[in-house]
Amino acid sequence: MAGNNPQIVLERRAGRQLMGCLAAVVIFGCLVCLAIQPDAVVEILGFFGIMLALVLFSKRHDHSKKRNIILTPQGIQFSEGGEFASIVDIFQSEKYYNPASIPWNELGEVKHLKKVFRNRTDNGTIESAYNILELKKQGDLSHTNPSTIYYCNDLGRQVLNSQTSFTAERAVALIEKLRDADSGEERIQILKNTYVGKSPGEIKRQIRNTPWKQRLTRYCPACKLIIVVDGQKEQSEQRCHSCGSNEIYKDEDEYLKTLDKKA
Ligand SMILES: [Zn+2]
Repeated sequence: MAGNNPQIVLERRAGRQLMGCLAAVVIFGCLVCLAIQPDAVVEILGFFGIMLALVLFSKRHDHSKKRNIILTPQGIQFSEGGEFASIVDIFQSEKYYNPASIPWNELGEVKHLKKVFRNRTDNGTIESAYNILELKKQGDLSHTNPSTIYYCNDLGRQVLNSQTSFTAERAVALIEKLRDADSGEERIQILKNTYVGKSPGEIKRQIRNTPWKQRLTRYCPACKLIIVVDGQKEQSEQRCHSCGSNEIYKDEDEYLKTLDKKA
């Protein structure tokens, strides 16, 4: 982000890293099964091979750079299209991403939808939420299909080269602010003023340089993130790496208690 053309790129870094971990788990699981049941090599390799293919495909397809959301003083760039959720999707090409962009003065309503998927298993129902953004152009009729961005699951999106994370709610607020600005200059200012934290490497170094006993975990309600802060610093200087706020709490429970008090 520099000069008079600042931009904010929101990527699915946390999701991509999770997929990387999953791939490692699948390979490890495969080796363990092979050690226990050496006779069933074909079945085991077949099963884990499909699992690994699904994970790697999702890593490439759902979490790739092509799905980044780019906010510039001119407009919003993104990829339309669905999430790779099952093997059937491979054969449904309309579910693939489709690059799109909308200039700010053409953008209409922005909606945030939370889809809850329920998977019934033998041990009960597993619920997972997925955040979807729907963008309409100004003048679109009510029955026109909006552009759909598969924003993220609970991991949010991260600003490229920065430790800043954006929940879907925060992303919608920023998009609406940019849409409603009166001029290009105002949008440049909004993008420059949006807090973008230090790089992940710099944060890691900072934590490494903090003695063990002084490393405190804190919860930021705005980012819904757990962070590590330096206990040697004044409390007012202990800030969220993601949004820069010092309204952070010991944990989620402590934050919820303060809400109860206010109510
Ligand atoms: Zn925060």
